[in-house]
Amino acid sequence: MSKTRRIRIIINGAVQGVGFRPFIYRLAEEMQLPGWVNNTAQGVIIEVEGLPHRLEWFLERIKAEQPPHALIQRMEHESLDPVGFTTFEIRSSDAQGGKTALLLPDLATCSACLAEIFDPQNRRYLYPFTNCTHCGPRFSIIEGLPYDRPNTSMKRFAMCPQCQAEYDDPLDRRFHAQPNACPACGPQVELWDQAGKICADHHDAVLQTVDALREGKIGAIKGLGGFHLMVDARNEDAVDRLRMLKRREEKPLALMFPDVESLRLECHLSDLEERILVSAESPIVLLERLDQINSVLAENIAPHNPYLGAMLPYTPLHHILMGLLKFPIVATSGNLSDEPICIDEHEALQRLHGLADIFLVHNRPIVRHVDDSIVRVMMDRQQIMRRARGYAPLPVDMGGELASVLAVGAHLKNTISLSRGTNIFISQHIGDLETEQAYKAFEEVISSFQKVFEAKPQAVVCDLHPDYLSTQFAKQSNASLIQVQHHYAHVLSCMAENQIDKPVLGVSWDGTGLGQDGTIWGGEFLLADRDGYQRVAHLRTFPLPSGDKAIKQPQRTALGLLYECMGEAVFNLTDAAFMQSFPPADLRLLGDMLRKDIQCPRTSSAGRLFDGAASIVADKHKVSYEGQAAMELEFALHGVVSRERYPFEILSTENAALVVDWSTTMQAILTDAADGVSIAQCSARFHNTLVEMIVDIAIRVDQKDVVLTGGCFQNRYLCENAVRRLSEEGFTPYWHSIVPPNDGGISLGQAVYACRRLQKNL
Ligand code: ZN
Ligand code: ZN
Ligand code: FE
Repeated sequence: MSKTRRIRIIINGAVQGVGFRPFIYRLAEEMQLPGWVNNTAQGVIIEVEGLPHRLEWFLERIKAEQPPHALIQRMEHESLDPVGFTTFEIRSSDAQGGKTALLLPDLATCSACLAEIFDPQNRRYLYPFTNCTHCGPRFSIIEGLPYDRPNTSMKRFAMCPQCQAEYDDPLDRRFHAQPNACPACGPQVELWDQAGKICADHHDAVLQTVDALREGKIGAIKGLGGFHLMVDARNEDAVDRLRMLKRREEKPLALMFPDVESLRLECHLSDLEERILVSAESPIVLLERLDQINSVLAENIAPHNPYLGAMLPYTPLHHILMGLLKFPIVATSGNLSDEPICIDEHEALQRLHGLADIFLVHNRPIVRHVDDSIVRVMMDRQQIMRRARGYAPLPVDMGGELASVLAVGAHLKNTISLSRGTNIFISQHIGDLETEQAYKAFEEVISSFQKVFEAKPQAVVCDLHPDYLSTQFAKQSNASLIQVQHHYAHVLSCMAENQIDKPVLGVSWDGTGLGQDGTIWGGEFLLADRDGYQRVAHLRTFPLPSGDKAIKQPQRTALGLLYECMGEAVFNLTDAAFMQSFPPADLRLLGDMLRKDIQCPRTSSAGRLFDGAASIVADKHKVSYEGQAAMELEFALHGVVSRERYPFEILSTENAALVVDWSTTMQAILTDAADGVSIAQCSARFHNTLVEMIVDIAIRVDQKDVVLTGGCFQNRYLCENAVRRLSEEGFTPYWHSIVPPNDGGISLGQAVYACRRLQKNL
């Protein structure tokens, strides 16, 4: 006869704030297994007593039936002598011990809550802060672990008896829902004018906001992880005014649609894209536009862009607003260009002064800024391009115990990472560390990450570039310093998210990053593993006249490229459109700079190669944001099917890396442009050439596993065709999905390297 046993189960992962304890409670009650469950800083701990086969079944059912947003990373159990439990209870949280429990991201409103918000009989009818254990704010309101109400910005709201009863009832959907609230006891909205005077409150505030937006006004709306600036997306003048005031000339603006049906009128929508849009993560998804003739959208939403960044309402407030508006609105982050998003209403009044006409605010404090994430579908799976709301701060699990390090990322699209236990936690998108505001946000994210995870890093890791503010921050810290080359960090980041730990050929292509040799890299082929790398090949280098200035003036890059391969003859190309785009004085000056090699840093950047090609074929001479010319070149090949390509050569140099020589490529592009070959054809040939360069190097290096990383691989055509061609040639390609290929992924790669180094030194 089998005897009663007691088991103790420890579950790690995203298991707090998703209704995990009520789930365990119900399961144990149903299976009549007495014991208890507790949330601790290490995760969820369960003890139950019963016959061994019943306990086995209990373990199986936990795995099989776990709540929808739970993520079990590890589940361990040990068998113990029974102590004679008689009931099953939920014990109160225990804040002791090291903090390794996962912080959950913010989750979009669930269907059950949505039904309540629009049910006139429900006590939460039109209440903008409705949530439950399956949805609502998490990361944006957490001040510390474990995830309990006193450790959130909801601590200032005492629950009314009805809310408290829900919170205490293990069978209720709101059992231990930390942000639980209702109109009687929870946060409220107010409408403020530009001076901060209250114009309306409760539902009236929402109704007046709707009126103002209908009239073409600019609204600053406090949401989940920060403020949005909103205007009617059909109103060209309103959009123009927003662009001018926000100092955002051409960069596409994100839209919020009332529902999937209204979105379908403007964009193609695949099943996967729709699933991502309505998911709990609810990111902005880049979608291909339908024929614009039937579009209701203002033309200046996303100029020259066949894609739209679109999202659906993801909080009750957004659902209520959009339900009243019934048309798409611009929902761009509440900031000036390049600054971090505003999170506090008083700060918003100052920073958005003169920009927003009205402010729809509320009194639930946002603990940290969390931007909308941006996702694109590539190779039939999602690729996160900006990782914030819905995803951050979920970690990458490295599978083994790690040293404690802080990685401070790169300069643009900055994120930071922190290792803890077996996980590397990646922060939300912080942004370009160009402004004082952004640098302040960067420091705040670092201190709040260290506080929440109670981490005391043994080492701080940064880029090689001495001018990055992140590098300077790292150098000032007391911990020991480790520096990682930029493109190697890209490769390590892609290896980590794909969970590979073996030598790879890393194709690391982006706009710019400081190389080990002091020149600017960006078209790199690195033979790499977690211990180090060797630069086995790179694109031929060329001079970049006026350095960083060329980033915003691609015709300068074109001039540098052609000067490299043609010398003085480039100045005879007086018929070429890109040459005609220079004011004569500029051209003389740039010519002098090239001849005398003044302010002409050499680079092997693939991103700049794109810019130069775009300038020559697409007459793209001025851009207002980095990567714009390359993006437009990609968009130009819309729908073209072509396997044609331009010539290129691979040069071997003595005891050094292979050099991919694009000079014949550029000359051929020049000829095509002169012959009037369509931009679409030129673009397809150019892209195909780059893909074959990758394949050619892969064959010569003969490394089976190939990692595609760096900002250039946000380009869907390049990424998809490189994957396809490498597979055809027998290689195994890896690319990004949950971590951005751009510099948002750098901090993860830095952390991986530092953890390995510290481990080896021990
Ligand atoms: Zn809910
Ligand atoms: Zn209440
Ligand atoms: Fe980069």
